[in-house]
Amino acid sequence: MDTRLLDLLVCPICKGSLQFDREAQELVCPRDKLAYPVRDDIPLMLVDLARDMTLPAPEAPAAAQASNADAPA
Ligand SMILES: [Zn+2]
Repeated sequence: MDTRLLDLLVCPICKGSLQFDREAQELVCPRDKLAYPVRDDIPLMLVDLARDMTLPAPEAPAAAQASNADAPA
């Protein structure tokens, strides 16, 4: 994403500035703890699509990790 865009983008909720998470391809509002997705270099500044960063990540399947952990070292 063109980071110059970042200067123009603000959080639709608090109108605060956003931080671009390049790895996650998300625009993060630290104030609201929301992450807005960036798809095909287009920031989707919709509250409905924003991820609540206070919730645990949906990944990290603990069960799947446990099934691999029983291999002897
Ligand atoms: Zn905000």
